[in-house]
Amino acid sequence: MNPAEATTPARASKGTIRVVQLYPRDMNIYGDWGNALVLQRRIAWHGYTPELLEYNVGDDWPEDADILVGGGGQDSGQLIIQDDLQTRAPLLKALAEEGMPMLVICGLYQLFGRFFKTHTGTEIPGIGILDVETRGTDERLIGNVKVATPEFGEVLGYENHSGQTTLGPGVRPLGTVAKGTGNNSSDGHEGARYRNVVASYLHGSLLPKNPAIADFLIRTAAERKFGTFAPGEPDDHFAELARQHAARRPR
Ligand code: GLN
Repeated sequence: MNPAEATTPARASKGTIRVVQLYPRDMNIYGDWGNALVLQRRIAWHGYTPELLEYNVGDDWPEDADILVGGGGQDSGQLIIQDDLQTRAPLLKALAEEGMPMLVICGLYQLFGRFFKTHTGTEIPGIGILDVETRGTDERLIGNVKVATPEFGEVLGYENHSGQTTLGPGVRPLGTVAKGTGNNSSDGHEGARYRNVVASYLHGSLLPKNPAIADFLIRTAAERKFGTFAPGEPDDHFAELARQHAARRPR
């Protein structure tokens, strides 16, 4: 033990925040796992104890989740998880209605909606937490994206999808694209917001470059669990560098 450790008392944890990753075995592309790692690190920076769990097809449901995160996947990954996801639909819907913070990216964003009809005409039912519909097209929307959002400022990321999503009146968009395509090639919207669910097409992963969204999820989880959120002092140095770098990238 060095002298500094001997004299600096370990700061007591403000409590445990449990993050559950949905289907990381089948739904985790373009670095989406990084979202869970950012939550883990920032929860600790805020003075709480992070716990990171996985839920995959056939697993028992992990009790006491505080934040859910789910990533993107190929159409094939979506087909693999669809039956299991339907068995969990009532639970996930109830949790979303109760206000649990959730982040879903691309493939799981689509399946949190009403349905995803693939470009070959197969309809994969969604779980209807989000009032959105997605249709596969022959056009692939690929590249770097900048989104102006009312809640999180400028959001930066990378999109790669052929499904195009339209929003119904039950959700609001995450923001408006300033570069890139977002939900579809016609209305200029990216992502969806409903209660404490944040849905987005953006990979990269999203949270390392957009700590405002990570802190929204953590703050919401802490307030629900402990009645209050006492923020710490996160080190945003690398997030800021990543943002500057991402903002300079061409489409
Ligand atoms: N398979 C879906 C699409 O291409 C989702 C892709 C993804 O998650 N990146 O629209």
